[in-house]
Amino acid sequence: MLTRVKSAVANIMGGIMAGGTNGDHLGISDLPLKFPYMRPEFLGLSPDEIECSADHIARPILILKETNRLPWTTGYAEVINAGKSALNEDQACCEVVALKRRPAPSTPSHTPTTHRRSSLPNGEGLGLRESADSEGLVLHYWGLFDGHAGSGAAVVASRLLHHHIQLHLQEVQDILRNPAVLPTTCFGEEPNHHQHHQHLSPGGAQRALTRAASLRGASGAPGSPSTPAPRFFTEKKVQHESLVIGAIENAFKDMDGQIEREKAVYNISGGCTALAVVHLLGKLYVANAGDSRAIIVRNGEIVPMSTEFTPETERQRLQFLGFMQPHLLGNEFTYLEFPRRVQRKEVGKRMLYRDFTMNGWAYKTIEDDDLKFPLIYGEGKKARVLATIGVTRGLGDHDLKVHDSNIYIKPFLSCCPEVKVYPLTQFEHGADDVLVLATDGLWDVLSNQEVAEAVTCFLGNCDPDDQNRYTMAAQDLVMRARGVLRDRGWRIANDRLGSGDDISVYIIPLLHGNRQT
Ligand code: MG
Repeated sequence: MLTRVKSAVANIMGGIMAGGTNGDHLGISDLPLKFPYMRPEFLGLSPDEIECSADHIARPILILKETNRLPWTTGYAEVINAGKSALNEDQACCEVVALKRRPAPSTPSHTPTTHRRSSLPNGEGLGLRESADSEGLVLHYWGLFDGHAGSGAAVVASRLLHHHIQLHLQEVQDILRNPAVLPTTCFGEEPNHHQHHQHLSPGGAQRALTRAASLRGASGAPGSPSTPAPRFFTEKKVQHESLVIGAIENAFKDMDGQIEREKAVYNISGGCTALAVVHLLGKLYVANAGDSRAIIVRNGEIVPMSTEFTPETERQRLQFLGFMQPHLLGNEFTYLEFPRRVQRKEVGKRMLYRDFTMNGWAYKTIEDDDLKFPLIYGEGKKARVLATIGVTRGLGDHDLKVHDSNIYIKPFLSCCPEVKVYPLTQFEHGADDVLVLATDGLWDVLSNQEVAEAVTCFLGNCDPDDQNRYTMAAQDLVMRARGVLRDRGWRIANDRLGSGDDISVYIIPLLHGNRQT
């Protein structure tokens, strides 16, 4: 077992996480691609340009052409990796999506349609096919996807996730459009406590009254003239923004489910992280599943808008799953964590450990079971789940197994994003206040502080009226993270190693968001 796991570590870490193969060219699948490999649609690249962009030696930085403006004059830049995979496994998408007033019957298995206007300057001039749509809400959407073990899942998610968000928001848009009314528990009908009362049998009604009174701690007889009419069931107040959050969360779940289903008929390789931003009704919703990152830089200050999901940050969730469902560990892994691998000669000795209930450490007597490979092993960027994968949330990966075994990784991965909300209209924003979204290729080598300082400094030296200033700032960030080729390696400031990963960066000006609302 030990040999096999060692081999798994060597091969799969090399293949999946650190690079090597990309999974697209292996000829494993005879199935057609769901979508062809591409670069973000908004870059408007020709096939020749796409081919040139995949130069792992020159690593050209791609930016938006001046004619291809994104909503809010969003800036974007990207660069391919230094050779870890043949293709750039990052993907990006930016759309302006109009919610239809009357949603068509949901058909999850087919690709929903949407109206888009992303090709128009600043997203102006929405062209709608149906007059009813003109009353629908409009949302702005930015997505970043970082693929692994192939580019298939990232390509599919970049093409479809916003459609799933659209479908879920359409279901609740009538509620969202009326800020004076909080969502009711039952969708589509007014709560009527009298009606509910009438459906109860006399005995049941009495029991409900007694229970309601006891819950309220009431001492008087229920329903007596001096007490107000009883409300049998208290109702939790759900805010509008929670409905948006729920819609986004379910959209991620549906996207993951669609990838799983369609793998039966399409070649959808690997998995991907997903970072999605939705602007709706004056708020920014930043949804993250994976290790990309979003920060707001406002007046030079940093507001973190995401947290990364890695084997280390999600250790306790993963350990708990391994504890509750030990069969998922295949009798080859232990859910317990030790500071290092336990050796056979240490059986019977006392050693530091921690389980899912602990943040601290304690000692236990080592048993044979503790010789199994740890469910979570390694530190920092080298930490892995089941010796295989370094991110714990994302889309896809349904076929991913521990090397040379039947142990699936997917049960330990979550497609649920964490959604953070930023009340855009509650703040005054200047032209240099931005939301920065980037894949881990940027954050691996630059800190939040370095990114904030670089962006603030760059924008401060730009003409405030220059429509390309945010794309140039994104290009500057990618340049700082990639560095220059020197002494057979990519070097950045202070002679540090540059990022050899794919790097993708959005810079979204917040001033335009204020103007939109
Ligand atoms: Mg990456």
